[in-house]
Amino acid sequence: MIILYIIVFILGLIFGSFFNVLIYRIPLKKSIVFPSSHCPNCNASIKFYDNIPIISYLILGGKCRNCDMMISPIYPIVELITGIMFLFLFIHSGLNIVFFIYLLNFSFLLILSFIDFNHKEINVYALIIPYIITFIYLFLNSNVLPESILFNNAAGFIEGIIGSLIAGLLFFIVRFLGTLIMKREAMGEADIYIVILTGLILGYKVFFFSIIFAGITGLIFYAFYSRIKKDPEMPFIPFLSLGCFLALMFKSLILQYLTI
Ligand SMILES: [Zn+2]
Repeated sequence: MIILYIIVFILGLIFGSFFNVLIYRIPLKKSIVFPSSHCPNCNASIKFYDNIPIISYLILGGKCRNCDMMISPIYPIVELITGIMFLFLFIHSGLNIVFFIYLLNFSFLLILSFIDFNHKEINVYALIIPYIITFIYLFLNSNVLPESILFNNAAGFIEGIIGSLIAGLLFFIVRFLGTLIMKREAMGEADIYIVILTGLILGYKVFFFSIIFAGITGLIFYAFYSRIKKDPEMPFIPFLSLGCFLALMFKSLILQYLTI
């Protein structure tokens, strides 16, 4: 079993390496296939043996082999986070269709989180892909269909739809009032689309906990970040996504608590 965990973790690191390419190139509207990875400073192409997730970064001491330019620690951080994310989703769900549905959702959220963290424009239309696939999955699993078609009759479809609607409406109202009161954009429009997806994934009961987790992790991050950077502009999407991930991990615990 432990070997399976290691394989999933390493797969996560490799995907994380690919996500780095997406995070860097999508906002620049560059091709994600060509050219292969190269140093942004000296343009030297990065050899495959210098492109091993995390390990290459450590061996090279975070520098380009050719020009010694410092490479952002964000790259190994994205790889590590992706590895951990894959591992925890696997532990949470096991090897089944749910695992792949969550992988898809959280991979999208992770990529958009880091694009948002770099203060780049995110393309909210990309969220339609995980949304539709999750919607179809929940629908096929719901008791809306006659029993013969069901996978396991798991509830969650109606909760998800309500979660989606409540989340979207709540964030729309907060953004509208916030903008009215502060007389400037209170929240990115993209945040609304993010919670419409996380509301669907979690269902309305667990969704509220994801907002609490997002608030707590966001505040902790701000406390550290504001020491390094003066008046930092805080992105929301990373914390909404992290909140969603934590809420999913503690979902059974939360639902247990709610029924008491
Ligand atoms: Zn270089």
